[in-house]
Amino acid sequence: MEFRFYVIENGEINASALPDGAILVNTGLLGALDNEAQLAFVLSHEIAHITQAHSWRQVHDTRTKRVLLVIAAAVASAYIDDLAYFLRDLGLLWIWNGYSRRLENQADRIAMQSLIEHGYDPRQAARLSEILIERHGGRSTSAVWSSHESNVLRGSFLTVQVQRQYPQGDFSDKTTDTEAFRAMRQAMGPVKSM
Ligand SMILES: [Zn+2]
Repeated sequence: MEFRFYVIENGEINASALPDGAILVNTGLLGALDNEAQLAFVLSHEIAHITQAHSWRQVHDTRTKRVLLVIAAAVASAYIDDLAYFLRDLGLLWIWNGYSRRLENQADRIAMQSLIEHGYDPRQAARLSEILIERHGGRSTSAVWSSHESNVLRGSFLTVQVQRQYPQGDFSDKTTDTEAFRAMRQAMGPVKSM
């Protein structure tokens, strides 16, 4: 599988993964992140959706599968102006708004392992949930990974996972931020997030 990463100029705090390996990250999400560990978690989460074939598990009918391939091809070949509307029209908004909670949890678990394996501070995964809650407040549905309640649940689930794997709670050798991440943020300039 070859992964391809695209930055989409869109203020929504969101990222999504297409089944052919394209990962789309909105500028709004890049602007909302505190550090590189959080970005690593987001990217690992999206990669997990692809490697675990969540798109195919979410749908059973062949028509939808065919449409998914068309979208993947379209993203690979051209800039889609507003992917969310495009997917909504096709009844595939879950690519944008998140999969079922079970598949989201699985992607979170895998992403957390990936953070740990690469030496990032795993606590940043739960911190990202807090950012989403702060940004989206009590809104019943947010663009990223569904509802407020599910972000609260998600945060505590990630916190428990960290406590289990790090009972001593020593994170002194973990990477949180890097010069490269800060330089990227600086180069992006001010970004609107919504
Ligand atoms: Zn997801």
